[in-house]
Amino acid sequence: MSAARFTVSFGGLSHARAFEVMDLLENDLRLDPLAVSINETDEAKALWETVAWFALLEEADAARVVMALPYSVVSAVPERDWVRESLAGLGPVSAGRFHLHGSHDRGVHPSGIVLEIDAGTAFGTGHHGTTWGCLAALDDIVKRRRPRRILDLGTGTGVLGLAAAKHLKRPVLATDIDPVAVKVAIDNAKRNGALPWFKGCTAAGLHHPSISTAAPFDLIFANILARPLASLAPGLAKMLSAGGQLILSGLTVDQLRWIKACYVNQGLVVERVIRSGNWIALVMGRKALGGTASKRKSPALSFKAAGLGYLQDA
Ligand code: SAH
Repeated sequence: MSAARFTVSFGGLSHARAFEVMDLLENDLRLDPLAVSINETDEAKALWETVAWFALLEEADAARVVMALPYSVVSAVPERDWVRESLAGLGPVSAGRFHLHGSHDRGVHPSGIVLEIDAGTAFGTGHHGTTWGCLAALDDIVKRRRPRRILDLGTGTGVLGLAAAKHLKRPVLATDIDPVAVKVAIDNAKRNGALPWFKGCTAAGLHHPSISTAAPFDLIFANILARPLASLAPGLAKMLSAGGQLILSGLTVDQLRWIKACYVNQGLVVERVIRSGNWIALVMGRKALGGTASKRKSPALSFKAAGLGYLQDA
């Protein structure tokens, strides 16, 4: 690792003296620091230091000589790749068969349905409990069914719709109120080879002819927030086919009862509740015509993904 910067620090100063030294460093025409700061080094003794950054070692040395203060140290500051370090916090995520990673972690997932999605201007890398819960719900649903028509309302990066499109190879309509998110989702569809099944459009809620034309849907994702989920309940329920499932998220544990009630009032049944931290993904189903449909009891499942959540039967 190369040293990109050099600092000279002057310690053992009072607060006022640290400011004076900062002024001197900034205003001495012989010196050209990149930046100067002051830091408290010993709260109990009220001691401060002044630190100046330079591009060259000789400049830092020169500043030390010019200032001629008793406690001064010149150090090399190792170069840091800030982009890489911040992305390191966004490691790969898995929910059942679905595996997500950023481009900095390419190749980490050898099998399964792998999606590459970078953090950027749209929401949805899989690290948030709501996204993870929806993917876990999808993983569970596709064990039993292969939905034919899919709506991803509030698509963000496209993550949920892309997971479904990649696995099912069936058409997904992805919508978002934010045109930037729609563009990001389409770019992600290209990057992940899902474009043939993936269509995006900018729409607030269900207000777009593409949505009504493509309805009814066998699977709908709506990971937005509790309040819009509550007002969208009649419209979303109408667009769900018999035997279809609605994966709702963006609600917290204390909002579960409210949102459940909104959709039960539309004739839907609770199929599963998935919790991740304080976030809930709620799977609601519409009974298939003439049958007891998709409400079934399955053993309690647990997903070990990024240390997140658990899955429970409704
Ligand atoms: N589906 C992604 C993103 C969820 S974030 C995931 O699961 O990670 C919620 C997204 O919903 C945001 O991109 C936001 O712009 C969008 N959104 C919020 N309210 C909306 C509305 N009324 N209609 C459509 N999209 C909405």
